Amino acid sequence: MVPVIALVGRPNVGKSTLFNRLTRSRDALVADLSGLTRDRKYGEGKVGGARFIVIDTGGISGDEEGIDSLMAKQSLMAIEEADIVLFLVDGRAGLNPADEMIADHLRRSEKSCYLVVNKTDGLDPDVAISDFFGLGLGQPLPIAASQNRSVTLLIEEVLSEL
Ligand code: GDP
Ligand code: MG
Repeated sequence: MVPVIALVGRPNVGKSTLFNRLTRSRDALVADLSGLTRDRKYGEGKVGGARFIVIDTGGISGDEEGIDSLMAKQSLMAIEEADIVLFLVDGRAGLNPADEMIADHLRRSEKSCYLVVNKTDGLDPDVAISDFFGLGLGQPLPIAASQNRSVTLLIEEVLSEL
């Protein structure tokens, strides 16, 4: 079976940028406007010799109350469908209350989940990740999706632990 990797996180953290990087497409809409990817979107990725399916999601805004409404339904479904969940946060914006809610949900799920700190270009990666240890999802992994920095390393690492 080809492994399925879901990209989740609040809007604007760079999920679609990473999706496009992994699938080498420009299909997923990337913009500064929040919530543009409304539906789950599937693509085929290949890193080194490994193939996988990647799912982009519209994001979980955190404006709603309660975990059910907070987690956009399609994000929950993407998590269900996935073998691996990459939970993206924004290394420039720092920790956000929505991040805490999403982390709370993921800690309770049985999925293999990785905390990915995006937008670390121009930042000291050690400083950028320091905000996020408290989410309780293990070692935060710094990348810069738009610069293609540490993206291959990340995917190789998560696939190797399946
Ligand atoms: P999504 O809402 O999570 O899908 O986020 P997008 O992929 O649409 O990206 C939101 C914004 O962040 C866009 O302006 C991207 O160009 C920008 N962005 C994404 N990845 C990076 C990165 O690694 N570094 C920087 N500086 N900006 C990024
Ligand atoms: Mg998007």
